[in-house]
Amino acid sequence: MKSAKDSGAPESPAACSLRPSSPGNSIFLEPGESSSTDAKLGYVGRFAPSPTGTLHFGSLLSALASFLDARAHHGRWLLRMEDLDPSREPAGAAQQILETLDAFALHWDGDVIYQSDRLTEYHNTLTFLNNHNLTYGCDCSRQRIRSNEGVYDNLCRNRASPPIDDFAIRLRLPDTNIQFEDRVQGIYQQNLSSDCGDVVLRRRDGLIAYQLAVVVDDAWQGVTDVVRGYDLIDSTPRQIALQQILGYQTPRYAHIPVACNTMGQKLSKQHFAKAVEPSNSRVYLREALRFLGQDLSGNTQTETPQSLLQRAIERWDIQRVPKLANIPVGHQLG
Ligand SMILES: [Zn+2]
Repeated sequence: MKSAKDSGAPESPAACSLRPSSPGNSIFLEPGESSSTDAKLGYVGRFAPSPTGTLHFGSLLSALASFLDARAHHGRWLLRMEDLDPSREPAGAAQQILETLDAFALHWDGDVIYQSDRLTEYHNTLTFLNNHNLTYGCDCSRQRIRSNEGVYDNLCRNRASPPIDDFAIRLRLPDTNIQFEDRVQGIYQQNLSSDCGDVVLRRRDGLIAYQLAVVVDDAWQGVTDVVRGYDLIDSTPRQIALQQILGYQTPRYAHIPVACNTMGQKLSKQHFAKAVEPSNSRVYLREALRFLGQDLSGNTQTETPQSLLQRAIERWDIQRVPKLANIPVGHQLG
């Protein structure tokens, strides 16, 4: 099952032929501009979990919302394992996620893509960016960056002597505003310099950073629509900037509220979120649809996950998803 090489995944030209560009080209979005694609023309959505543990209610929400949006658009729904950090991935977690999705009748299209199979592509992209003088080494401490509210001040950009070893690789981002229209949250805007700072593409420990892999793979898989949790909305402008630099299309984005426990913490393995129980899939799906603001009327006690999802696809209305960053859920779910 685990093979991206013979997976039949779409061979997007963007995967193999990076278009040369330089910072001198006007490739960045101006505020108010949109590079959105028309989702009705060949909608491609995806769910991209990190296999750090079992599927919990929070990850079920992202899976369900992206699935319903794709199916309501008669689109494809792809599955991608973001397994780039082996130290955080217990053995068997990826397989367990697949089995849980299957038990919830959330059936994906094509073969599963594993990012751990795609390291060559990420390194080729890094080399391309490096050859265009768009990257630099940074050995600033986490503590130093944290002291600036997590915004990197681009200190290492113009160092006389670059770090020799044990350094992260950052992308030179332009000092500009990036704005996009989120389908749930509305207009979202960031200044790349003051709100973000140059983004890490390869981590200090040598691992490929999430921001690089997600941009390369969304383009390679031809993803037109990203539906994911609000916790990733502040990553979106830097991802759009990287798409622009690499000459990729920018997908449409929809960021759904994140489920929090009663302590206000995002449901996660770190906060001991409970695994969803496939034997109770109908209850979890109904709770997830309620969370997403969808119409649940008329459902009966006897329906299967399949019939429940079919009705949810027919009724899916993304405008009904609450325009919120997070929503607390009860003890039984979190
Ligand atoms: Zn630095």
